[in-house]
Amino acid sequence: MTTKEWQVVDTYLEATVVGSDERLQAALSANEAAGLPAIDVSPAQGKLLHLLARMAGAKRILEIGTLGGYSTIWLARALPDDGRLVSLEAAEEHAAVARANIARAGLAEKVEIRVAPALETLPHLVEEGDGPFDFIFIDADKPNNPAYLEWALKLSRSGTVIFGDNVVRDGQVTDPQSAQPGVVGTRRFLEMIGGEPRLSATAIQTVGAKGWDGFVLAIVT
Ligand code: SAM
Repeated sequence: MTTKEWQVVDTYLEATVVGSDERLQAALSANEAAGLPAIDVSPAQGKLLHLLARMAGAKRILEIGTLGGYSTIWLARALPDDGRLVSLEAAEEHAAVARANIARAGLAEKVEIRVAPALETLPHLVEEGDGPFDFIFIDADKPNNPAYLEWALKLSRSGTVIFGDNVVRDGQVTDPQSAQPGVVGTRRFLEMIGGEPRLSATAIQTVGAKGWDGFVLAIVT
């Protein structure tokens, strides 16, 4: 199977099961028009995040890595009326596109985007007593994933769901000799999760429109 075939299957699944709508499509179009890289989650992955957040009954969601807010919209739609999502983004130009997309989707009141490197904003969330969050989506710069996991645990409670994206990367994650910072960070991230007694986790490799990759899913025990 090739990426092209995976793309065809993803398109079929999106049309038959996942569903989409004008506001989600508009967000992707605005991202493209603004020159953002197409590294957002796929529609099927976005729906998975949405369903997991609903299953967890999440009222407070933390996202690390906003880009144009595509995953933010999927996640914020899982929130109840009094729910809140905080999304952390380093690039102001990404956050500006995301704010417009989120406002167009009617979610501005539920979503706060904090613009700075996440390792600066995460300590503020702890200091401000902003936790615990019910659902944490980690999807920013992969070399910092080990540090993001530590902050996620500080901002968690028993039952918090932690979802980390892009943990397979065409299988590169299995290479212990790799010097690529993203691979090194991902390997350490997975080892920390596997060895953390406060977490029960699994990791799933996936193929689809975004190629061969995978995610790790954990719950704080
Ligand atoms: N979650 C988004 C989605 O699916 O629509 C995609 C996020 S994209 C994979 C990663 C984002 O993380 C980029 O917008 C990038 O600017 C941001 N980022 C990179 N380094 C960061 C950092 N140190 N702190 C916060 N955000 C960062």
